[in-house]
Amino acid sequence: PLNNMALADETSRVVSQFEFTDADVNRHVQEFLRQLSEGLEKDGTSLSQIPTYVTGVPNGTEKGLYLSVDLGGTNFRVCSVALNGDTTFNLTYSKVPIPKECMVTDKASNLFAFLAKQIEAFLKEHHGDRFNSGVQRRSTRSNRQGFREEEVFHLGFTFSFPVQQLAINKGNLMRWTKGFDIPDAVGKDVCALLQTEIDKLGLPVKVAALVNDTVGTLMARSYTATGSQRSILGAIFGTGTNGAYIEKTSNIKKKIEGEYDKSTGEMIINVEWGSFDNQLNVLPSTPWDKALDAESVNPGIQMFEKRISGMFLGEIVRLAIVDMMKNEDTSLFKDVNSSTNDWSTTTSIGAKSGIFTQWGLDTAIMSVAAADSTPELSSLRQALENDMHVYNPSLEDAQAFKAVANAVARRAARLSAVAIGAIAIQTGKLDDPTEEVIDVGVDGSLVEHYPFFRDMIYEALRSIDGIGTKGADKIRIGVAKDGSGVGAALIALVAAKMD
Ligand code: ADP
Repeated sequence: PLNNMALADETSRVVSQFEFTDADVNRHVQEFLRQLSEGLEKDGTSLSQIPTYVTGVPNGTEKGLYLSVDLGGTNFRVCSVALNGDTTFNLTYSKVPIPKECMVTDKASNLFAFLAKQIEAFLKEHHGDRFNSGVQRRSTRSNRQGFREEEVFHLGFTFSFPVQQLAINKGNLMRWTKGFDIPDAVGKDVCALLQTEIDKLGLPVKVAALVNDTVGTLMARSYTATGSQRSILGAIFGTGTNGAYIEKTSNIKKKIEGEYDKSTGEMIINVEWGSFDNQLNVLPSTPWDKALDAESVNPGIQMFEKRISGMFLGEIVRLAIVDMMKNEDTSLFKDVNSSTNDWSTTTSIGAKSGIFTQWGLDTAIMSVAAADSTPELSSLRQALENDMHVYNPSLEDAQAFKAVANAVARRAARLSAVAIGAIAIQTGKLDDPTEEVIDVGVDGSLVEHYPFFRDMIYEALRSIDGIGTKGADKIRIGVAKDGSGVGAALIALVAAKMD
């Protein structure tokens, strides 16, 4: 029937706009390398290239008990990590939602006092022995008095907001994001704010390190990676995307303000690659990329992230699908019975469907589409019904949806390969015969759950000049388990040694 022909044509037209050829990959890698270098030279460039003051990665022999906390978006996580010194660890963990009145308030102490209280509750519950001995010994309850040096926990503070880092345990908040609004805290050192509240409670805790989640991922992966190869890059492909890698300090031309350990000649750099090519020198821009950006809260910003990460992919697909539905000649999600639709019922879109709502399509359904290889696409059609309230989608509808979703995800994976490939080249280890493996730690729902995401990354890596099949075989991309908790603990350990 004509309808299905028209839908197939329309689908190819949309899919072709997400094509990202090998030549595109290579052009992007060159531009990524250029922007990497620029960011090492001066401030205010598109890649922030933030020095983290962490000057080495672990090798798996690290030992000890450390605390880590993570203030991300909605929850506050506290955990203690026992590093066993043999690449393994044991993790104890608690998680509480952050009350709204702590997120939007006029006093920073409202939030940080809440965080300190959670740390106290965690210590009482899980480390009561160490906690109580100090409490019994001391007369006043303040400033870690009463605790012996070895009883004090070193804490790594994962703080996923923009900060200007000044030392391994010092960083000033630049601005709040993700719904937080506490003007009093802006411009202040968030480690000091937390330490003040911890000291008011007299806890045996020293805020030893301020941690970005990508750096945590790199550290955690390096600790657990087997085969003695330390990792060179930690990368997140979740709600957002970003990476941190090991750079030679001699390549960091801009001034590093605070003190750091110079003996290793290296420092981990937080790339902030979500903002790669905000100027759109090279990045592809389909009509749907443009629409997403125009309707976002931050137009013109995080342009690389807007083409890669979980928060945005579903929205790109949604915008493309809605456009296809507007085409009168096609039958997508319309009240039309197609001849090959053996479910022989009519399609309808429920009132609760997110199809016509901004952010109404969760990226998770793209994983369902990619995983469904049945001829009937039954699980995808089921998910369209259950999650999208599109009732009785035809096989052709599901095929069109799957094709568009795959095209968007494939472009995202190939763009991810641009960042990974460029950094692999930047390290200079690809041609070094003494480096057998170039290890990369990754974390985030997209890379963990989207089927074949890593395979698509590898396919693109093989097409990069200077990497090829041989180089791609050397690059080992593995998931960093519990990256945030373990990574922050490891950075606290590094910081404690510098003390
Ligand atoms: P965060 O980055 O906030 O720590 P995650 O790594 O879990 O959290 O990423 C959450 C993002 O991943 C959301 O944007 C969500 O839409 C997307 N996501 C969740 N599940 C899946 C899935 N199965 N496949 C692809 N994307 C997913």
